[in-house]
Amino acid sequence: MEEKGLLKVVKFGGSSLANAEQFKKVGDIIKSDKDRHFAIPSAPGKRFNTDVKVTDLLYKCQEKAVNNEDFSEEFEDIKSRYNEIIEGLGISLSLEEEFALIEKNLKEKAGKDYAASRGEYLNGIIMANYLDFTFVDAATVLFFNKEGVFDSEKTNEVLGKKLKKVEYAVIPGFYGSLPDGTIKTFSRGGSDITGAIVARAIKADIYENWTDVSGFLVADPRIIYNPEPIDIITYKELRELSYMGASVLHEDSIFPVRKAGIPVNIKNTNAPEDPGSWIVESTGQKSKYVITGIAGRKGFSAINIDKDMMNVEVGFGRKVLQAFEENDISFEHMPSGIDTMTLFVEQKAFEPKEQLVISAIHKLAEPDSIEIESGIALIAVVGRGMKSARGTAGRIFAALAHARINVRMIDQGSSELNIIIGVDNDDFEFAIKAIYDIFVEVQL
Ligand code: ASP
Repeated sequence: MEEKGLLKVVKFGGSSLANAEQFKKVGDIIKSDKDRHFAIPSAPGKRFNTDVKVTDLLYKCQEKAVNNEDFSEEFEDIKSRYNEIIEGLGISLSLEEEFALIEKNLKEKAGKDYAASRGEYLNGIIMANYLDFTFVDAATVLFFNKEGVFDSEKTNEVLGKKLKKVEYAVIPGFYGSLPDGTIKTFSRGGSDITGAIVARAIKADIYENWTDVSGFLVADPRIIYNPEPIDIITYKELRELSYMGASVLHEDSIFPVRKAGIPVNIKNTNAPEDPGSWIVESTGQKSKYVITGIAGRKGFSAINIDKDMMNVEVGFGRKVLQAFEENDISFEHMPSGIDTMTLFVEQKAFEPKEQLVISAIHKLAEPDSIEIESGIALIAVVGRGMKSARGTAGRIFAALAHARINVRMIDQGSSELNIIIGVDNDDFEFAIKAIYDIFVEVQL
């Protein structure tokens, strides 16, 4: 009996396609598995630390063109990046006509999104030629409405229909079109989103997201030396760890695949044999440790609001939140006591509006006192295994006490998926290390 293959969508990030050498690795990966039907490329990224991404060069050209400045130097750089790839791959393809058209459009003051999108567009043409796949311009299959909001349903239908008719195709990442045909991009790093959208439209079995790391790590490698990788993580856990995940995978790329129940496999182009991390809806598999991951960020402010008998005053919380809403400030966490509530907000966003928010709280909620503390770091300790493991919180706080770290705040949702801890900015790295060691190192 003939074996029925899987349907895989594969997205490659900018560093995986930064030059011909990387491009060849990508070609080998795709060709080594005939289930890899649809490929989504980013624009060429950095070849070395101080290099400039093609997307950034394109933004620069557009900026200069709008100011009637000469952008030929940057444009030549872009051209040579692509020509080097073409030459290195040994394919017979000329992008001269495309370059000329893009240059002309830029001179005629084409938009920022159009300019940026050309990075993926040109890379898509090269990739399709190199792999002998069909090129499908994302502008013809990904749609935004006239308000600029992504139109997921129309896209899903048109894209699904189109790709049903092709066996192997390249669809450039990062952009689509508005109803009048103008190009519109997602936010930076948005090729991840395109990959997820394609996966949903064709009901893929797996969405492989190829990058330059072998998946998620239990903790930040800048803080923990050689941290353990995460083999499986649920969508929910990843959301709770969003401080960590953002640099590996665009947050918005979760929604389309999650909706369709498609697992995501983060893989490393430079180490394709590594299993990478799986992101799944749900799993019966225990994580290796009680915790799945630890992530955090410095730079939060705590606004402590006190009022006697707060607990019986109906609507008090709403009034306080209204003061933040009116000033367009979102909050991260909101632990509370019987007569107190505290809001944790990003210090950078809060500081310029500090006094406006305080006076609004006074006006709306009439509290007894308000106190602000800043320089706080938040740490999320996340794990689906916490629910069934006794003493997790105890172990965390014993480890922090042992490391002489003062805990400023504790917040645990009733889902028992995470514990949020607030510490001083200065204690941040020590706290992460103490928690990591107690759960991971000790068991080795
Ligand atoms: N090239 C775009 C960027 O640099 C999109 C992407 O790489 O996903 O943001």
